[in-house]
Amino acid sequence: MKNLITLIALALMPAAAMAQDDAPPPELKWSIAIHGGAGTLNRDAMTPERRAAYEAALQTALDAGAKVLAEGGSAMDAVKAAIIPMEDSPLFNAGKGAVFTWDGTNELDSSIMDGRDRSAGAVAGVKTVKNPILLADTVRTQSEHVMLMGAGAEAFAAEKGIAVTPPEYFATPARREALERMKAKQLSALDVDHKFGTVGAVALDQQGNLAAGTSTGGMTGKRWGRVGDAPVIGAGTYADNRSCAVSATGWGEYFLRVGVAHEICTQLRMTGDGAQGIADAVMADVADLGGDGGVILVTPSGEAIFSFNTSGMYRGRATSDGLNEVAIFGGEDKASATPDH
Ligand code: ASP
Repeated sequence: MKNLITLIALALMPAAAMAQDDAPPPELKWSIAIHGGAGTLNRDAMTPERRAAYEAALQTALDAGAKVLAEGGSAMDAVKAAIIPMEDSPLFNAGKGAVFTWDGTNELDSSIMDGRDRSAGAVAGVKTVKNPILLADTVRTQSEHVMLMGAGAEAFAAEKGIAVTPPEYFATPARREALERMKAKQLSALDVDHKFGTVGAVALDQQGNLAAGTSTGGMTGKRWGRVGDAPVIGAGTYADNRSCAVSATGWGEYFLRVGVAHEICTQLRMTGDGAQGIADAVMADVADLGGDGGVILVTPSGEAIFSFNTSGMYRGRATSDGLNEVAIFGGEDKASATPDH
């Protein structure tokens, strides 16, 4: 009997081997998620025009990142390609359209991380760098450091030929009005903003590498050199090929205290539990401390996930499985972004 089975197996082998040779190569997966900030978004205050403008800006950023991935480019390039148009758009609190500090300036923070080798770069409090995400990446690739701040970061940018712009470029009337309202009525940043407009992107490329990036103007009326979570590796941004890539938006002080991005990746790596459950649990932890906001993440298997404890988050995701969506309020997402292969 045993011999018979061996004979049959041998007889079948060449056919099986041939079938394998003929089989088309497995389709390579890619995945991207983006955000343009979370917060108390009021459905009634969202006019159709405003909604269309946000959706178009999100779609532009999503498409730019997805194109890089679909063409076989790297997750790092996709993250930058998605973040740059959001930094350039006045709709988001990053680059042009950044919120104002108490002193009436715009001070920008950004960070980026490569999940392949966990190399990372970040800048805080820069005032003239047009696209802070590019400076953060240059810190990663062309310095021995992870984080540069203020005038030193600007000097590094000049040395490396990074595009700069007069500081007035970042100013928009809506953000200036928010600062004035805050000062006049002694309101908090949360009262005037109602939402966080930080931008971020996370990606998985066809080579299986993960990357994450985040860029922000911080919070309206920030003073004393306040820096939030966005430029802090482990708080606002983290990427590790072994677990996931995360970008956060929200009340930075709480994200710093929880170490949100690193916490999500570490829990995933240590437990192997579902990514959505872990992200939701970490966001619940932020809420328990009194903070709010949201995260986006992608996993090595291609899941593109959102988790937020606010009424909305400007967001989008696209995968090689054909998913492509942008959304604003809670509950607007398609059922699942989990790949079925
Ligand atoms: N997390 C940012 C900060 O605290 C704000 C935001 O997400 O918009 O600076």
